[in-house]
Amino acid sequence: MRSEFRRLLPPGAYREIVSFRSNPPNRIGVLANRLGVRVTQEAMSYGHRGYLDYRSTEKGYVPTVVVGRHLSEAWKRWVVGHELGHHFLEGVDADFILMGDAHDAEQAAFLYLESDDSNEQRAENFAEDLFFGDGALKAAVSLHGRDVGRLANVFKVPSAKIRNRMRFERL
Ligand SMILES: [Zn+2]
Repeated sequence: MRSEFRRLLPPGAYREIVSFRSNPPNRIGVLANRLGVRVTQEAMSYGHRGYLDYRSTEKGYVPTVVVGRHLSEAWKRWVVGHELGHHFLEGVDADFILMGDAHDAEQAAFLYLESDDSNEQRAENFAEDLFFGDGALKAAVSLHGRDVGRLANVFKVPSAKIRNRMRFERL
């Protein structure tokens, strides 16, 4: 996963991510901006957590992560990581730009809503690598112990995500 993760990112981005990870909980909105992605919040129905949109601006299409205003801080952070995954994994292509031009901006031509396909799993993997990659969770466990709530607070991510990753890394 790590090599894929690295390959996907534009030059310089990997270094930004390593720096983000090195001292949790750093501000993921700042990281996103450094990676050229805007983050904004919107009211959403409770079933929805966020989506990725390419918004037309004076500077062209700007990748924009939209997170649900109702979410906890931990979930907002996770959603940003997940949607950054969609951006770097699936990205934007020429077809999209044409589609975007043909659509009313309000229609948000290209949305990633949560669904149960392999792109979702890959976006989750991306978010996990973003927060926990290069042994970051393992290091936190040796520093703080295996208390999931405490670790969730260190990383400011949902407890369930800590639990999944601990199981995956057999921590
Ligand atoms: Zn998704």
